[in-house]
Amino acid sequence: MHTTFFSGGRHDRTANDRAEETLIAAWRADPAARFIPLWRGQHAFDRAGKEGGLRLLMPNRSAFPSPEAGLDRLPWTYLGRDAQGPIFSVDLDAHDAPLALLPPGAGPFEALRPLAPLLPDGEPALLAQARGMHHWRRTHRFCGSCGHALVPEQGGHRLSCDQGHLHFPRTDPVVIMLVRHGERALLARGVRFPPGNAISALAGFVEPGESAEEAVAREVFEEVGVRVRDVRYLASQPWPFPGSLMLGFHAEAEETALTIDASEIVHARWVTRQEVRDADPADFTIPDVTAIARLLIESWLEEA
Ligand SMILES: [Zn+2]
Repeated sequence: MHTTFFSGGRHDRTANDRAEETLIAAWRADPAARFIPLWRGQHAFDRAGKEGGLRLLMPNRSAFPSPEAGLDRLPWTYLGRDAQGPIFSVDLDAHDAPLALLPPGAGPFEALRPLAPLLPDGEPALLAQARGMHHWRRTHRFCGSCGHALVPEQGGHRLSCDQGHLHFPRTDPVVIMLVRHGERALLARGVRFPPGNAISALAGFVEPGESAEEAVAREVFEEVGVRVRDVRYLASQPWPFPGSLMLGFHAEAEETALTIDASEIVHARWVTRQEVRDADPADFTIPDVTAIARLLIESWLEEA
């Protein structure tokens, strides 16, 4: 089994405790309870670690200025426990000056993507959980059945309205696939990629009423006009931008001629292993270790 980046959390989610409202409230009031602040997709980090290491900033309750006036008014989620006690996340999105609500010296808030590889094992998974939960909460403020306001329950893991409709956290499945033909593999640059020369495996959302393997075949044909067979699952990865589950595959192409869907793909090309190993960054780059596409490409490189 592959352990992918953003999985491998070291905390115990203790899901069976979530329904114990009194217990969760007591844990939240514990001076040692830790809180991970989230603000508009960004995070605060602690750089005081040894050897320039970076850690996620998760101050305990006693470090917050007047928690009753600040911390306790923020939307929160119970994430789980580790040997040091309970861990919660708090969402500061509604505040234009979030640092005022945090312990003195905290911050600044920074983007996750460039810093994620520097975090210690387990923390990327904790963040993936927190980001996914709060994204779901922010985008599900009203009941889809009756339109009434939703209220969090079960440590933030369930939302309910006054009509008794229940809503549960959402994860969107995405297939990502390295398409292969003989000695070559297909890498493409998507229209929504950040500026640069990055190319990667093809990917797309799974639709209702199809298996993940069927989604692989459909997406490859839609994006580059290639029929595939022998679709093989390799690994999965939580992808907290904002809340997907990536399902990684290899697939064999039946043909090499490409018909590019310009609404999805800027360009696509067949590359050999040697071309990937010797790639000049001015020509193309492949995704970093935080992306499951890297694992799909490296497992192909290791075959020869
Ligand atoms: Zn409702």
